[in-house]
Amino acid sequence: MAVMAVMTVGLGARVEAGAGASSSSLWEAWPHTVPVPPFALKHEGMRAQLAAILARHEGLFTIAEEGASAEGRRIPLVVLGNGPTTVLLWSQMHGDEPTATSALLDVLEHLGRTRKTPETERLLSRLRLAIVPMLNPDGTERTRRTNAQGIDINRDALRLETPEGRFLKSVRDRLKPSIGYNLHNHTAGLTAGRQGPQVAISLLSVPYDEADTENEGRLVTKRLAVLVRRLLEPYAKNRVGRYDMDYTARAFGDSMTRWGTATLLIESGGFFGPDEASTLVRLNFVALLGTLHALADGSLAAVDARDYDAIPLNTRDRLFDLLLRNARVVSGAGLPPYRADVGMNLPPARAGFPGSSGRGSRGGVLELGDLTDFLGKTEIDLSGRLLVVAPPGGDEGWKRTLLGLVSRGRATAAGVLTLSEAELSAEAKAWLGNAPALAPGYGGDFLVLQPEDEGRFRVERRISPVEP
Ligand SMILES: [Zn+2]
Repeated sequence: MAVMAVMTVGLGARVEAGAGASSSSLWEAWPHTVPVPPFALKHEGMRAQLAAILARHEGLFTIAEEGASAEGRRIPLVVLGNGPTTVLLWSQMHGDEPTATSALLDVLEHLGRTRKTPETERLLSRLRLAIVPMLNPDGTERTRRTNAQGIDINRDALRLETPEGRFLKSVRDRLKPSIGYNLHNHTAGLTAGRQGPQVAISLLSVPYDEADTENEGRLVTKRLAVLVRRLLEPYAKNRVGRYDMDYTARAFGDSMTRWGTATLLIESGGFFGPDEASTLVRLNFVALLGTLHALADGSLAAVDARDYDAIPLNTRDRLFDLLLRNARVVSGAGLPPYRADVGMNLPPARAGFPGSSGRGSRGGVLELGDLTDFLGKTEIDLSGRLLVVAPPGGDEGWKRTLLGLVSRGRATAAGVLTLSEAELSAEAKAWLGNAPALAPGYGGDFLVLQPEDEGRFRVERRISPVEP
């Protein structure tokens, strides 16, 4: 009994220590191989990076073969390691989803730098890695999802009408990998569950049938997902989510799993802040190498697959680019001011990471009312202020309106409004003219008014959901 306990504790401690240590050491070792942002790395740049890595680390990998895209661009298959377990990793089958491509180049660079260490020697002696860093170069050149035929390669696993899909299938059939990594990006607008923050990384142990049957391969990909979450927790706390199972026979991940290559889906979401794009690459790097090491050293077997169900489900429509809280709103409909939170999206260039910004890609108000349970990437508390629809025409429009107010004695020359709330409401209705009042879809500007004394309001700032 005592011996059993010691063994259990010992095993658990070793796995925890191993995973934790490798997580921080991998985070620190991130080589940041690609000097340009992921979206700027196109087909020629990717091939140049592979050549440069091989020049720095001679003999590290071979380009075992090259497929050809619909427009004839070459699709390198990188192979390294000589272990009995083959792992196939492919990225950017959607041309506008580039994060993992840069991370895979980082993985190669790191394996080159550390190839004489026991950890990397073990990895390369126990695994054979087959890597397709950019499956859809034609879509990548256009920064779009589909290939040059306009087909979503990830829905072509059954018909195989795309040369890129046929290439991926042929690689699978020849190498017979037991494990697959299907690497994507998704919208930056998901949250981890109904309580959690913005999702940085999403996972799915990809099913192979409608019944979500759990076989040995599914257990492996569930363990991999659990381990990814654990590895990333120090750097993306509570920001790892998972997809609900949704079997799609024509999708590649599902078909791969059905064909015998148990596939883990890893998708990059968003990480709002100044280093968003590179942080997502770095998280991918830690997730990929950390799990590959655990596959190689056997520690993955000690991860409890049941913890997979505890990964929060991805949740849509909870995250706004900008959330104004607790405003008293003057909507332009001529109504008395009322309290509301206002959630809006900004155009992609202002929203941060240049991916899809969730609910629509145009800026504007999405919802207003009680948004207590929602999140904003940026939040502004407007308690005690009035949020007023602005006259059309930007700053110039406001200047003209203000001159009119001054001439009628409703504002001072210094720009302080001198009127009651009821009068303000009527003025706002008038200065909107034919422009629509505040409601979902409103794309105009707002003025934030700070009440001073009774019947006096100072204009504190302008908020624009569409203008830079
Ligand atoms: Zn995708």
